[in-house]
Amino acid sequence: MIKKIDHIGIAVKDLNRSVEIYKDIFGFELLEVEDVPSQKVRVAKFDVGGVHIEFLQPLAEDSPISKFLEKKGEGIHHIAYYTDDIDGLIEGFKNKGIKMINDEPVNGSSGTVIAFVHPKSSIILTELVSKGE
Ligand code: ZN
Repeated sequence: MIKKIDHIGIAVKDLNRSVEIYKDIFGFELLEVEDVPSQKVRVAKFDVGGVHIEFLQPLAEDSPISKFLEKKGEGIHHIAYYTDDIDGLIEGFKNKGIKMINDEPVNGSSGTVIAFVHPKSSIILTELVSKGE
């Protein structure tokens, strides 16, 4: 079952610029800057009242974020929902004909496991997040 919005992912070309804007001007709390090798991105995470805003800068040309920036430019890339049962959720989605990008959870940032739902099935690219084992 989905419990809450975990974070909103925003694709950017320049992570430092997004930190300058959202830390220095908006006054959001910068939680951490972390590389996520499985997605080939560097992430700057802010907390806004319990929901995280994550700015994503690609670390390689074949990163999914590079392709997104090329096609659509900077902007909202995905929304992520927190679940306490990612395996059950994926199974249920597949049974209902939802197309998954990740059929099995993969490692996300900060010790989480994640799986992406294909935007063809969910309108906007959607990430499921759960605590890793
Ligand atoms: Zn995400």
